[in-house]
Amino acid sequence: MRQIIIMLDILVATNNDHKLHEYNVMFNPLGIHTHSPKEYGIVDNPDENGTTFEANSLIKAESLAKYSKMPIIADDSGICVKSLNNFPGIYSARFAKECGGNANANLELIKRAKVTGKMDAEFVCVITLLNVEDKPIQFKGICPGYLLDEPHGNGGFGYDPIFYSTEGNIALGLASEDIKNKYSHRSKALSQLVEYLKKRKLI
Ligand code: IMP
Repeated sequence: MRQIIIMLDILVATNNDHKLHEYNVMFNPLGIHTHSPKEYGIVDNPDENGTTFEANSLIKAESLAKYSKMPIIADDSGICVKSLNNFPGIYSARFAKECGGNANANLELIKRAKVTGKMDAEFVCVITLLNVEDKPIQFKGICPGYLLDEPHGNGGFGYDPIFYSTEGNIALGLASEDIKNKYSHRSKALSQLVEYLKKRKLI
């Protein structure tokens, strides 16, 4: 019997190799091929001037849509420390840059949270899907937990070494790729996206 395999090609609006890798690992078994803007020689760095993850995710997707009619996904993500009014949140990447890199940002964030005495935090990810429907569709994933007293392990990227996932019962810096992808904010948003694509019979 002949089997028809539907392959979906998606352009991912990111230059972050870690994010791309996470998307590849999660998408490939589903027959979804991810492509980066770099692959097509596209250089696109829109001004992320929104005030929410939703707004910035949409800005990234719509900006990339100027170059391609392919299905596009863009994500905006970050870590929110509750006692710091959800800082750094949408400023997570910018805060790391200001601190001179993620290692410094991690220590600085722990220091600021400790002053408040409350370490509760969460990772947030909002994915925007564009060029599939006549309007953008968004999916949000949250990974609840707290900041550790000091960095643990060097798995993952960004703020992973200082974050403890209460659902996975593990410090993300010590988690395997599989475990992180089971509990992460990105995988949760992505699962909803996959369900959506399945319902629409696109995969
Ligand atoms: P974005 O590319 O504007 O979405 O930047 C998100 C920033 O948040 C990244 O550069 C990281 O510093 C941080 N971040 C987002 N997702 C994760 C994650 O899964 N682990 C660790 N840090 C993350």
